Amino acid sequence: MRVPLVDLVAQNAETGDDIRAAVDGVFANASYIGGSDVGAFEQEYAEATGAGYCVGVGNGTDALELALRAAGVTAGGEVVLPVNTFIATAEAVSRIGAVPVFADVDDEHLLLDPAAAAAAVTSRTQAVVPVHLFGQVAPVGALRAALGGSGIPIVEDGAQSQGAESADGRAGSLGLVASTSFYPGKNLGAAGDAGAVTTADPEIARTVRLIASHGSEKKYVHDVIGFNSRMDSLQAAVLRVKLRHLADWNRRRRVAASRYEALLSGVDGVRLPQSVPGNLDVWHLYVVRVADRDRVMARLNEAGIGASIHYPTPLHLTAAYGGHGLGAGAFPVAEAAAGQILSLPLYPHITADQQEFVAEELAEAVRP
Ligand SMILES: *Cc1c(COP(=O)(O)O)cnc(C)c1O
Repeated sequence: MRVPLVDLVAQNAETGDDIRAAVDGVFANASYIGGSDVGAFEQEYAEATGAGYCVGVGNGTDALELALRAAGVTAGGEVVLPVNTFIATAEAVSRIGAVPVFADVDDEHLLLDPAAAAAAVTSRTQAVVPVHLFGQVAPVGALRAALGGSGIPIVEDGAQSQGAESADGRAGSLGLVASTSFYPGKNLGAAGDAGAVTTADPEIARTVRLIASHGSEKKYVHDVIGFNSRMDSLQAAVLRVKLRHLADWNRRRRVAASRYEALLSGVDGVRLPQSVPGNLDVWHLYVVRVADRDRVMARLNEAGIGASIHYPTPLHLTAAYGGHGLGAGAFPVAEAAAGQILSLPLYPHITADQQEFVAEELAEAVRP
């Protein structure tokens, strides 16, 4: 038996016919940029997140850069973000010419620790970015409380949490503005690159749209220096079809997460992920922690199981961001977790047989 980390081919059995019809529709009127599917998707995704406004853009990294720029981040400013995230979160900051300031995470959920974030704030801080990692929702309410009356904008990175909910509200609707990615492997994935910015603030939405379309609202009238980051009509057409399945696919991810919990809760040496109380997670990744992780992962990989690591290196220890002067020991929680975390295969179409196989192999691998 083979169990990949994610199985996008399995989605096609459910969506293939509808996607082919949607793609035919785009070709029928040949409006590849700015076609009607883009506006329709933006409206449908705004409704799905409850954010009010959605702007479709080229990818999730652009989405975060645009969200930060619209929130007022400028060259030389500082942006606080968790040290254990996909590197794109920091790249979006760097691309503005601003400085990513890393903060540690909490040990239970590996989400940005509000107290650590508040401690990283300086007079130059222009935004704080909670990342809704692994399909969770970061504690935005607690973060806002920790930031006190500073008025520092909160910009969510929601690339891994389409459809996730917390007591504070839905991911993508909790900060001033939020970004998300529709990279194919995300919970809502395009057939290529795409992303979106969501916000309740019409001025923020307008600014994002302006910057993402060459600083122009009227053709050949350029108000600011922008760039090109558009969601194309084909991706929007594909995403409209898949958005109709998102709630069901997230439900199936939760069923699969519960099944892993039942299969693995008695296994010594495997620490299972815990949901933040009150949150409805969408399990983008199912991340356990084990000792001797590299050996355990190699064994699973040899058995045909696509276990992986998200992410092996906290950002301050990467070559890209190593120049910030922070060495090993700067972020003890994220550093300790990086040596233990192991992502098990989880996707809506995973079968009980596949999960039982993964659980058996994992139990074997961690046996002393
Ligand atoms: C995937 C991802 C991104 C980047 O999205 P792209 O569409 O690949 O640019 C940003 N942040 C996080 C947390 C992600 O997982």
